[in-house]
Amino acid sequence: MFDLIDKLEDKETLEREEWITLLSAYQDDALRDYAAQKARAVAQSVYGHDVYVRGLIEFTNYCRNDCYYCGIRRSNPDADRYRLTKEDILACCEEGWELGFRTFVLQGGEDGYFRDEWYEELIHEIKQRYPKCAVTLSVGERSGETYRRWYEAGADRYLLRHETADDVHYRSMHPQEMSPEHRKKCLYTLREIGYQVGCGFMVGSPGQGPEQLAQDMEFIYELKPHMVGIGPFVPAAGTPFADKAQGSLELTLFLLSLLRLQEKKVLLPATTALGTIHPLGREMGIRAGANVVMPNLSPVAVRKKYALYDHKICTGEEAAECRAA
Ligand code: SAH
Repeated sequence: MFDLIDKLEDKETLEREEWITLLSAYQDDALRDYAAQKARAVAQSVYGHDVYVRGLIEFTNYCRNDCYYCGIRRSNPDADRYRLTKEDILACCEEGWELGFRTFVLQGGEDGYFRDEWYEELIHEIKQRYPKCAVTLSVGERSGETYRRWYEAGADRYLLRHETADDVHYRSMHPQEMSPEHRKKCLYTLREIGYQVGCGFMVGSPGQGPEQLAQDMEFIYELKPHMVGIGPFVPAAGTPFADKAQGSLELTLFLLSLLRLQEKKVLLPATTALGTIHPLGREMGIRAGANVVMPNLSPVAVRKKYALYDHKICTGEEAAECRAA
């Protein structure tokens, strides 16, 4: 088994069957340690000891989609909906700038209330106030034209997790009107426009096994994104998956290591979901090969409301405290 990790490090890819064998063995502590040590060494050779910080601003939890796993899905009646104004968002950026953040990630549900022009004006304004910062958007599936307009307005990066590369699995987690083909196409369109793109998936989502994860690794190998965001699936009240089992800490850490060995230069966040299932989850993520953290810059008053899943951490602290975490 250890030889598969050596092979991945050298060749940067494995055969489908090899992936399945390797991923099925994630409970082997020695194997995970071996992968993590190599992954950490690769991360250090590419990025030194740096960990990049991105400020996350969750500006709306209204969403027209109805993903079965997500706490802010349209038909969750318990979601306490909110929207930030442009002024609110600019105030978050101001606070972030003072704290030393140089990337702002604007994330939200697919909220039709905000028109394309609203985004353009906001992006312009952020870029004008902080010319040296990077603006990252993460607001789901839009038309190529919209993506292009936002890019021209100054957006630099876009995060859109593919959620799973297995089309049958994708359909089992989303309603009919959402398609795996469209989601993947969005990622290719974004890259073509010139964005730095991030894809990603949940670990341990219902119906996921080594075969699905093998396909995720293959999809990422093909797409070659700048960033890959992964975190454990965490059940969310008010969703069809509320009673499903949470994703595994060990498997998430193992996948971070394998991603680092496959995609040597990729930006790999140790996510909030990872920190939610274990108090030291994010630190363990960094040790396993991750090199990005995304502290929450949203106003404290709304943090609890952006409840993608239950027991989410960093919903109470001041941004400065959260930054130290
Ligand atoms: N609307 C945007 C942002 C989605 S929220 C978009 O479509 O990209 C960001 C990510 O949170 C999702 O891509 C999903 O992978 C993750 N997420 C949603 N529900 C989750 C849950 N119950 N457990 C863990 N992660 C979840």
